[in-house]
Amino acid sequence: MKIDATKCKTLMISIKPGTFCCNLLMKMNHHILCVKKVFRLSVKSGIALLFIQTIFSHENDRKIIFPDIQGYKTLKCDLHMHTVFSDGSVWPDIRVQEAVKDGIDAIAITEHIEYQPHKNDIPHPDRNRSHEVAKNALQEADDLLIINGSEITRRMPPGHSNAIFLDDANKLLTTDVMDVFEEAGKQHAFIFWNHPDWVAQAPDGVPPLDSIHHELIKKGLLHGIEIVNDLTYSDEALQIALDNDLTILGTSDIHGIVDWQYKIPEGGHRPVTLVFAREKTEESLKEALFDKRTVVWFNNTLIGRPQNLVPLIEACITVQDVQYYRDYLIARVSLINHSDVEFILRNTGEYRFDTYADVVNIMPNSVTQVGVKTLEKLDEFIMKFEVMNAVTAPAEHPEIIIRISTNQSE
Ligand SMILES: [Zn+2]
Ligand SMILES: [Zn+2]
Repeated sequence: MKIDATKCKTLMISIKPGTFCCNLLMKMNHHILCVKKVFRLSVKSGIALLFIQTIFSHENDRKIIFPDIQGYKTLKCDLHMHTVFSDGSVWPDIRVQEAVKDGIDAIAITEHIEYQPHKNDIPHPDRNRSHEVAKNALQEADDLLIINGSEITRRMPPGHSNAIFLDDANKLLTTDVMDVFEEAGKQHAFIFWNHPDWVAQAPDGVPPLDSIHHELIKKGLLHGIEIVNDLTYSDEALQIALDNDLTILGTSDIHGIVDWQYKIPEGGHRPVTLVFAREKTEESLKEALFDKRTVVWFNNTLIGRPQNLVPLIEACITVQDVQYYRDYLIARVSLINHSDVEFILRNTGEYRFDTYADVVNIMPNSVTQVGVKTLEKLDEFIMKFEVMNAVTAPAEHPEIIIRISTNQSE
């Protein structure tokens, strides 16, 4: 969710072909107001014709926006975080308030089960307490799922893992590491390998996949892997997910304050896992995670399996309007981006553009017009793009096809 005005809901009035956008930010009365000016410039006459302003407060602007995809709700989830009940710096209600401000649908509270540095100051014999405090902090208007979890905190191998959807975290306090996973399995938890590339446990940044991981996967006690944790991304973890049929996850693992860690006031965003669930319930979320229906959003990059990622991108970018003006043979295609992603698209289609070279940036939550030189007036044609800031496997980007009908208008 950037605040560079690209998230302003913009009203665009079409008078002449060809657009240039300029964005301004203004601070006024303790609100950051967003002003978008849209100038339309006639290619021939070179005259700016109009501008439109939209104004909104930053409080709404920081909410993470993604559309639903066909058949599923897109749940924005952050399933790894800490509070003072392990080694975090805040009380659990702050995690709730941060999530609500960010428009998150589900969080999991995942305190280290074994590592309790604040225990002398905050004694708490019940390891479910942090989850309970968070749940009690929910306000009536808050539409947030809070999942009970725990971070199994061990040396590598197997390193750290999260077990979420727990009934009772206390039962995970066991010496033998396999016993801990067995207990989480008994509680039908969803279990994933945390920050496998963490330099403290993997000095070269390469996840040290070990026989114990293979054993856990084989026993059905390891279901997912973080390919994104906090500020890091791992190609190798993505490859491990694909090779071992694991769910792809990205989490903040926040210990401090999300605004500071991800520079949210300056337009940053926390990493989230987008989960495609039938309904917004704990049961549906769990079913979707076990079924691997996820895409990670990290640092303006989308990462996921093609069957999840391509439908998401297709839901994000739709055609608003297509027109040929007068007798010109250039189709003016207006594309709406319904998400917070600034898409970086490389043209792999048949036709050249008159408004861009081969790379087109589709700005978040706004309309981008592309002039397509179809050489003759066509009723229908296809635009094809490689999505450069989307990843389906290491160094692989998905291709999207946009079908254009010249009678089309959203
Ligand atoms: Zn950890
Ligand atoms: Zn953690």
